[in-house]
Amino acid sequence: MRIPLPSELRRSPWAAHPDKPKAGQAKGPEALMSHPHTLGELRNSSFSEQRMLRRGVKDELRENLLARLASGGAVFPGIVGYDDTVVPQLINAILSRHNFILLGLRGQAKSRILRSLTMLLDELSPYIAGCEIRDNPYAPLCRRCKELLSREGDRTHIAWMHRDERYVEKLATPDVTIADLIGDIDPINAARGGHELASELVIHYGLLPRSNRGIFAINELPDLAGKIQVGLFNIMQEGDVQIKGFPVRLPLDVALVFSANPEDYTARGKIVTPLKDRIGSEIRTHYPATIEEGIAITAQEAWCERTGPKLFVPEYIRETAEQIAFMARMDKRVDKRSGVSQRLPISVLENVISNAERRAVQEGSRLAVPRISDIYAAMPAITGKLELEYEGELKGADTVAREIIQAAVARSFDRYFGTTDMKQVVQWFDLGGQVTLTDNTRTHEGLKALEKIQGLLEKTEKAGAGEGEPPESIISAAEFILEGLHAHKRIGRTEERVFTSGEKPRKSGPEEISEELEAEWEQRRRNRLPFN
Ligand SMILES: [Zn+2]
Repeated sequence: MRIPLPSELRRSPWAAHPDKPKAGQAKGPEALMSHPHTLGELRNSSFSEQRMLRRGVKDELRENLLARLASGGAVFPGIVGYDDTVVPQLINAILSRHNFILLGLRGQAKSRILRSLTMLLDELSPYIAGCEIRDNPYAPLCRRCKELLSREGDRTHIAWMHRDERYVEKLATPDVTIADLIGDIDPINAARGGHELASELVIHYGLLPRSNRGIFAINELPDLAGKIQVGLFNIMQEGDVQIKGFPVRLPLDVALVFSANPEDYTARGKIVTPLKDRIGSEIRTHYPATIEEGIAITAQEAWCERTGPKLFVPEYIRETAEQIAFMARMDKRVDKRSGVSQRLPISVLENVISNAERRAVQEGSRLAVPRISDIYAAMPAITGKLELEYEGELKGADTVAREIIQAAVARSFDRYFGTTDMKQVVQWFDLGGQVTLTDNTRTHEGLKALEKIQGLLEKTEKAGAGEGEPPESIISAAEFILEGLHAHKRIGRTEERVFTSGEKPRKSGPEEISEELEAEWEQRRRNRLPFN
C-alpha cells in the first residue's frame, strides 16, 4: 500500500476545515457530527478529563502502536526493506516514549518514515477552539485559554484536529532563528507585564509551539545553529526558554523527531551535548540490501501510471535502473559520505519511460516499451544525483555515469544470459556485421536490422520477449542482449550507436567497482548491517 503524502492528505476537504466544516460541504467523518462541541460534552465523552489530562502525545503514539502491534497489522505500510532493521528500532523508540533521530544518507526514506508517524496518532483530537497552540481542553498553556476556561467553564467551545494536521516539519538551516522555531515576543508588552512569565505575554508563536500536541520533525539537525539547539534543549528539558532575554515558560507537549546525515551528526561540535543526550534513540537507516527490495521501492515511488500509449516495462529495465544505484554506491569515484539516493533509480525509471513514450507517440505506436538505450538517454536523471570524488570529477560526470550504466547493464545481462551461449551472435559481428540501433530507431526498421543477426532473436525469450510478443518488446530484448555483450566488451559500439565487432578485447567486468567494497557489501548483506 502506498502512503499518501501529507500534501495530498491536506487536500481533502476534511483536513482543510478541521474545526468548522462549512454548510453544504463535505463534513468529513460522520463521527464528527456526534463529537462534543463544548467542554461539558467532552467531559462525558470518551475524551474524559481522566483520560486526557496526562495523556501526552508520546503516550498517544505508544498506545496506538501497541494496539496496532496487537492487531498484527503492518506498523509502517509502504516502508520497504526495513522490516528487520529500522522498523524494530523505531517501534522500541516509540514504546519508550523517546525523542529520536534517524541517521542516514540521502534518499533513505527518512522523511517518509517521520511523516508516516502521524498514522499512530488518534484520528481526531479535541482542543480549545480558536487556540493557536491547540491547547488541551483540560490543561491549557496559553493565557487566552486559561481566561476563557475560567469565564466559560463547561460552555467553552471545543474544536477537533485531524491527525494529519498534527505534523510539522522543518528543514534546519544555519539561518533558522529562535523566532522561527519557538517564537517572538513584543518587548514593550513584556516589560509592562514585568514579573509574569510568558504564557501571559504577547507571543508570536513559532513552529514548535504550533506543533503542540503533535509531532515536530527537524531534518538535517546538525545544520541548526548552536544557540538554537540550546533553545530546543531547554524546551525539551524544562519547558522554559529565553526569548530576547525574557524568560518564557512553555511546557509544550511535542514528540520531537529528527533526521541527519550520520557523519555530520557524529562530527565533534556539530550537536550540543545536552541536546544529543536528550535524544533517546539513534536509528540508522540504510539503502535497500537487495536489488529486489530496490525494485519494489522504485516501483512504488516512480510515476509509471500515465495516460498516453500503453506502457510495458520489462523486468530487465527495472533491474538495470536499480543496478545503476547499486553500482554507483559501490563506485569509488562516487562520494560515499553523501551517498546515492533512492531517488536516482526512481528518476531514471521515470525518464526511461518518458523516452519510450516519446518514441511510441512519434512513430504512432500504441505500445511503449523502454529499451536500454532509453537508460542512456536518461543521463540527466543520473549526473545531478552523483556527488563525485576528485577522481570522478577529472573524468567528468557524463563519462562516469555512462560507465556506471554499462556496469549495471553487464550485471543485469548476467542475471538473464549468464549461461547462454552467445558465440553465434558475437561471430556475426566479428565477420563484419554492423547494425545501427538508437533510441529513435523505429520498431519495424530496428527489427528488420536485427533479424539479420543469426542466433539473436531466438534468445529474446529468456528476457520475456518470446515469439508472439509485440515487436516493441522483442526489439527491446534484442537490444538488451547487444548492450550486454557490449558491456562485456564482446562486441563494440560507436558513439553513434552502431554495434560492430569488438576491436580490442579486454577483460570483462566493471573495473571501477573495488573488490574490497564489494566484499564489504557482501559481508553486510550476510550480517544484515546497515549499508551506509
Ligand atoms: Zn490556548
